[in-house]
Amino acid sequence: MSVDAAKNPERPTTGTTTAELVRLERVTKRFGDQTVLDGLDFSVSAGKHVTLIGPSGSGKTTILRLLMTLTKPDEGTITVDGDQLFPASDKQVREIRKKIGMVFQHFNLFPNMTVLRNITEAPVTVLGMSRDEADARARELLDLVGLADKCDSRPSQLSGGQQQRVAIARALAMRPQVLLLDEVTSALDPELVAGVLDVLRDIARSTDITLLCVTHEMGFARDISDQVLMFDSGRVVESGPPERIFGEPREERTREFLSAVL
Ligand code: ADP
Repeated sequence: MSVDAAKNPERPTTGTTTAELVRLERVTKRFGDQTVLDGLDFSVSAGKHVTLIGPSGSGKTTILRLLMTLTKPDEGTITVDGDQLFPASDKQVREIRKKIGMVFQHFNLFPNMTVLRNITEAPVTVLGMSRDEADARARELLDLVGLADKCDSRPSQLSGGQQQRVAIARALAMRPQVLLLDEVTSALDPELVAGVLDVLRDIARSTDITLLCVTHEMGFARDISDQVLMFDSGRVVESGPPERIFGEPREERTREFLSAVL
């Protein structure tokens, strides 16, 4: 299935067809006897925002981990920007991974580095960006996530919500084509969730980045998504624009899930 058909009326379209950036074809993943993803097909077009919802254990995070090459599929094909991920040489994987940014549930900042250094480290060491350029870009990104005054702080001096906003800036500093968001507010105290979601809404609105997002925040999913995929037991139960999935779900499983979480 493609997200092309799903247009978010709040986001202008250019009228041109956008290229498929991420594509999964017949992807199966097993852990021991358990089939976690079962012949999964879907694609995400450049610039679109796709959200994966569904009960815990339905395989959503596994999809993001496959895209990050943190785990391998047992069957099927995964391509990013036309390049196949499995099999690929280490060099090819390194190149593909430059196109993908990921923000995790736990922020995984480098504790011994300042906020600024957390953001500049990979652009300098992996992309070969000059320190000055990386610093300037990091300051812009810190401004974008509302933390311009925290350049010199250490992660331990920040709240969880602030740390997560640094992690988002760090991922964006690599100028990825696609940003994977894995339940990025699940580990936060409730009062810190809104600030992080606001930053992500802003990024979704103001950049052309492609988003693939696993979330339990249904209001957020409704706001930012072009397409929502409802998962259960490693399969897409149904998919469509957020107004339809949340407003008029067709499948009983989706209705059950939404009534439990909304
Ligand atoms: P979700 O993100 O929808 O909660 P996951 O993709 O994290 O689901 O997990 C899907 C299923 O795969 C779960 O039953 C989980 O226990 C299992 N699983 C995930 N990773 C591993 C692993 N490394 N080893 C064994 N089982 C795993």
